[in-house]
Amino acid sequence: NRWRASILTLFPEMFPGPLGLSLAGRALRDGRWSLDTHDIRAFATDRHRTVDDTPAGGGAGMVMRPDVLDTAIGEVLAEGDARPLIYLTPRGRLLDQATVRTLAAGPGCVLLCGRYEGIDQRVIEARGMVELSIGDYVLSGGETAALVLLDACVRLLPGVMGAAESATEESHGAEGLLEYPHYTRPAEWNGRAIPEVLLSGHHAEIARWRRAESERITKERRPDLWARHEAKHGGAGGM
Ligand code: SAM
Repeated sequence: NRWRASILTLFPEMFPGPLGLSLAGRALRDGRWSLDTHDIRAFATDRHRTVDDTPAGGGAGMVMRPDVLDTAIGEVLAEGDARPLIYLTPRGRLLDQATVRTLAAGPGCVLLCGRYEGIDQRVIEARGMVELSIGDYVLSGGETAALVLLDACVRLLPGVMGAAESATEESHGAEGLLEYPHYTRPAEWNGRAIPEVLLSGHHAEIARWRRAESERITKERRPDLWARHEAKHGGAGGM
């Protein structure tokens, strides 16, 4: 029962793409997760393999047909399969690290990648799809969004990240703060020195400095995250 991702797409050749390389690629070859892709066009029923049609009510573009999508979904999501069916769409709830953690802790996911203007509303409702967006901008298709979601999930699967790539202290963790800045050798580069405290060997002071930097950067760059952090962890006496 390894973590399983199934992709419904008009462009199966876009997978595994970058997920076949590096951390995710090694994990895929090691069998820590699996990926299967399904060409939506294979489920079209007419001679021309039509998957889309003009929008009801008029307007530009094309809409993906509910009947073809439903057949494709039925093929992939067997009775009793507990994986969530996710439609990637700019109209969805914004993907965040909490959602990624939840998905990674589950059995996997089925991802539906839209094209054109998107898909018929009725199949979204009939199949109880979870609608997720990867950001407030519009992509030409859901495939790159699916790659982003899978990348974020796969790195959290047990055994995928070594100690070298630990997720324990990174941005968007339990505290909801952005990460502190990193430095490495040389100690001085182009007239810029590494902050002295980091070379002091004093672990408690280093931890204090990093914490302060995390808070400063979060406050400065993401007042929205800072407000949420304060509401959850702040309060009287907090910094
Ligand atoms: N007409 C749609 C709208 O205005 O919301 C945009 C359709 S977009 C050109 C085509 C497909 O790309 C969508 O069906 C969706 O699958 C995918 N897509 C585009 N932007 C996305 C985003 N920010 N997050 C996730 N998927 C996205």
